[in-house]
Amino acid sequence: MDNTGISSTTQKRDLLSMTLPELQALLSELGEQKYRAGQIFPQMHRGISPEEMTNISKSTKQKLSEVSYYYLPTPKRKLVSALDGTVKYLFSLRDGNCVESVVMRYNHGNTICISSQVGCRMGCAFCASTIGGKVRDLEPSEMLGQVIAASKDMGERISNIVMMGIGEPLDNYNNVIKFLRLVGCEEGINIGYRHISLSTCGLVDKIDRLSEENFPITLSISLHASDDITRSSIMPINKKWNINSLLDACKRYYKKTGRRISFEYTLISGKNDSPTAATSLAKLLNGKLRTKDSSMPIHVNLIPVNPVNEREAEFSSSHKEAVSKFASILEKKGIRATVRRKLGADINASCGQLRRAEEGIE
Ligand code: SAH
Repeated sequence: MDNTGISSTTQKRDLLSMTLPELQALLSELGEQKYRAGQIFPQMHRGISPEEMTNISKSTKQKLSEVSYYYLPTPKRKLVSALDGTVKYLFSLRDGNCVESVVMRYNHGNTICISSQVGCRMGCAFCASTIGGKVRDLEPSEMLGQVIAASKDMGERISNIVMMGIGEPLDNYNNVIKFLRLVGCEEGINIGYRHISLSTCGLVDKIDRLSEENFPITLSISLHASDDITRSSIMPINKKWNINSLLDACKRYYKKTGRRISFEYTLISGKNDSPTAATSLAKLLNGKLRTKDSSMPIHVNLIPVNPVNEREAEFSSSHKEAVSKFASILEKKGIRATVRRKLGADINASCGQLRRAEEGIE
């Protein structure tokens, strides 16, 4: 197995990772007419394999299948919340690895939370995805495939995407960029960039690169602490890029793109949820981001930590009162704060744990 996740014995090309021009080039190589790509591409993005397409000749299908493959993640398990209809999928990939996706139903439409890697190497202490390390990066087709497969299975359109599932998207930079290009493509599922959020633990060099790409997506920063000692103790990435350098990158991102950034703050009982911590968070964000040269709107999402089996003793969820007190302190200091509504509580909808249980890692 190489690090593309595709077995080195099968050199077949991955059709769903191709842009329309790449598919046109492949068809030309095969001696087929280029316009065929315009027929094949949109159907693939609706979940129809070339094999199933009725407007493609047998010989074209034959040629394609000799040199390429079309694979959609296959639901291995599906849990539906009786409380709010949230759907959680454990998808099996072509090489047998599994990732999770969660579809949340809101009044404004369906939002899918997708994974970007099998496992994760960022090592955040409270996160289930990181426990077995990173297995491999996901291909663009495997990210796109989660959206297509979930939509196909549910028979419903998905209108928003959050990249907050398993993995660190900016640690799989090139594939994520290609995925963004494919998912926003007019001939494909065409989800507007304003309906896509990407969450990162803070890879500063990649945040800078992303700001140059011209994708008006929403960036979410997993902050989780307002001082370096606390942040480094739960997020190893902070030892490479500390809070100051991360917020400087946020400022540059906002200046360049004009897109607001939201901050994720996981509340861990006794660790980062005191009124003092709230005051210092407000002071940090206001002091750094609302200065003479920057008037960035600031939004903080407060997420009571979801205990991970292995670490339950260490990381328990803040009490309701501590959460509302924390939010009200931020609001008083002029920072919009929302407490993340817990969806799919009965199906353990946050990512990472189902894959581990299924693979017998626990
Ligand atoms: N690697 C990216 C995206 C995946 S994690 C990132 O770090 O942002 C998505 C969000 O869920 C992050 O804010 C992450 O810190 C948070 N998270 C991870 N484990 C959690 C847990 N057990 N409880 C609550 N939030 C958690």
